[in-house]
Amino acid sequence: MELHNLMEYEVKYTLNHILETTEDVKCSCEHCKLDIMAIALNSLPPKYIVTEKGLLYSRISNFNQQFNADVVAAIAKGIKVVNENPRHE
Ligand SMILES: [Zn+2]
Repeated sequence: MELHNLMEYEVKYTLNHILETTEDVKCSCEHCKLDIMAIALNSLPPKYIVTEKGLLYSRISNFNQQFNADVVAAIAKGIKVVNENPRHE
């Protein structure tokens, strides 16, 4: 069995969608993406689930059907912070 924070996958999925569909993120390197995710996840409630190994995918594949407004707002906040203060040159 494995423990997963579904919110982490939801944030990652939503951020990737934002990166693909908008120009809002000034730098989309791995460092900035992880910083945006950390800021967003710190302001969102965790959603822990226990699944059998490999069964996580079916839960994740539901994300693309609707975007959670709270998740989108938390990511927008993270993007703003990282755009203004990227932690690298
Ligand atoms: Zn960057």
